[in-house]
Amino acid sequence: MNQSLVLASNNAGKLREFAELLKPFAIDVIAQGQLSIPAAEEPFETFVDNALAKARHASLLSALPALADDSGICVDALGGAPGVRSARFAGEHCSDRDNNRKLISALENQPNRRAHYVCVLALVRSATDSQPLIVETRWDGEIIDTPRGANGFGYDPYFYLPEQGKTAAELLAEHKNQISHRGQALRNLMSQLQNSSFFTANA
Ligand code: IMP
Repeated sequence: MNQSLVLASNNAGKLREFAELLKPFAIDVIAQGQLSIPAAEEPFETFVDNALAKARHASLLSALPALADDSGICVDALGGAPGVRSARFAGEHCSDRDNNRKLISALENQPNRRAHYVCVLALVRSATDSQPLIVETRWDGEIIDTPRGANGFGYDPYFYLPEQGKTAAELLAEHKNQISHRGQALRNLMSQLQNSSFFTANA
């Protein structure tokens, strides 16, 4: 029987990527919205703390194992901001467009364009799991002033990958999943999972 897993996210872009990335595995994935689970608070200063809080919240309300992603973009010239606040950089309930506008204006006349995406995945068997599986990855690029591409979501049209000669939004979905922070993190997590007794061990 397939293992059921709740995905602790309401972000349409992330859910799309996870659905694709998890296809090869014998896992029945249920988005938390399908179970009417509301978004968790993300009050913490690290991606790890927020990812764990989201996973525990979804597991508590579903009584199922849960996988959460906390991710964001860290810009060198902004001291790592927006970081854990990437989704709400321009304010609570702001759009991707608002966030991107704020990012580009914060980098006006700034020659240092280095940035990286971070993805932390936390997988818990239960809300009180004392041994969650956690992985953290990064994806390096540069911020450009003029958006390019219509794929992806969030900051992707401004996130330029010199070795690809493209922004993340110009990559086809499968290509982004192969090299992105989220793709790397999920593959890493799945290989740990396959080599472990995670779902059979007590937590
Ligand atoms: P979270 O839901 O609190 O983890 O916020 C993640 C935010 O980081 C998203 O809303 C985006 O703004 C940004 N982000 C994370 N991953 C990506 C990506 O792959 N592309 C574009 N933006 C991303």
